[in-house]
Amino acid sequence: AKNAGKNRLAVFDPGLRDTRLEHARLSTGLRHAVAQRELTLNYQPVVGLTGGEITAVEALLRWTPTGGKPVRPDIFIPIAEETGLIVPIGLWVLEQACADARRWHERHGISVTVNVSGRQLRDESFSDAALAILRRHDLPEQALVLEITESMLLATTPAETRRIIDVLTELREQGVRIALDDFGTGYSSLSYLRTLPVDILKIDRSFTSALTEADSRTRAFTKAIVELATSLSLHTVVEGVETSEQAALLQQMGCPLAQGYLFSPPVPAPRVDELLDTAPWR
Ligand code: C2E
Ligand code: CA
Ligand code: CA
Ligand code: CA
Repeated sequence: AKNAGKNRLAVFDPGLRDTRLEHARLSTGLRHAVAQRELTLNYQPVVGLTGGEITAVEALLRWTPTGGKPVRPDIFIPIAEETGLIVPIGLWVLEQACADARRWHERHGISVTVNVSGRQLRDESFSDAALAILRRHDLPEQALVLEITESMLLATTPAETRRIIDVLTELREQGVRIALDDFGTGYSSLSYLRTLPVDILKIDRSFTSALTEADSRTRAFTKAIVELATSLSLHTVVEGVETSEQAALLQQMGCPLAQGYLFSPPVPAPRVDELLDTAPWR
């Protein structure tokens, strides 16, 4: 097996080499991204399906290397996780999101939702750091939602999983809410729902895009998830709502909240103020 590995490396594969070079180039670039002020946040509203009001905004990270083109989060977040750079970057995200959210929360009572990686939560100091950031920006704990995915538990040891759950439980006891992101994409979603301390379920957009297909199975699944969440006193947010047909179906199913291009793509902070005043989709 060892030799096979060696031989495989010897095969000239320009595609693979380019990928490795690109990976190395991006991880070097990311190392300076915070200091060089190359990171920004966009925000996407979470909207009530019945009244059309904004209840929260999700912070989504953007990276444009100096003199270069924007790099997609799907590309750079995994690199930030592998290199551990997600820890300082994640703190920057939390700090910036809380700074921006303060006036939105003051004026409109909305919360801000921040994506966190397992790498960040494995660190026991995370909860103190997060609570200190909230205090610094004069935001109540209830104004913050942290989004986690079940996939972040896949690569962890039982001890690390324990630690992540402890950190989440501690934050939750203080009033920070936890959302389980991309729900329905993993293979053990239901068992995680039993073990993880969670307040909000975010149904993955693969459900939404299949809602209007002739095959009614996706509709039955989505309805069952919404009902399960409701009976567990969880809030449900459906992601990736792009058409009013999807929104209507979801509302009929009793889904309270949605997010997607039908309402707004992720936008820079000043545009959030405009959306909060106008809610043009109402
Ligand atoms: P996510 O948390 O599932 O975020 C939702 C993604 O769906 C976003 O992609 C958003 O732009 C996109 N989206 C929203 N509405 C629609 C729609 O109606 N249709 C379609 N087709 N897409 C829609 P984005 O911004 O490229 O982010 C990709 C992923 O990167 C996020 O997925 C999240 O997992 C990760 N990410 C982004 N920001 C952060 C961060 O600050 N920290 C961490 N750890 N991960 C982040
Ligand atoms: Ca998310
Ligand atoms: Ca998601
Ligand atoms: Ca995702």
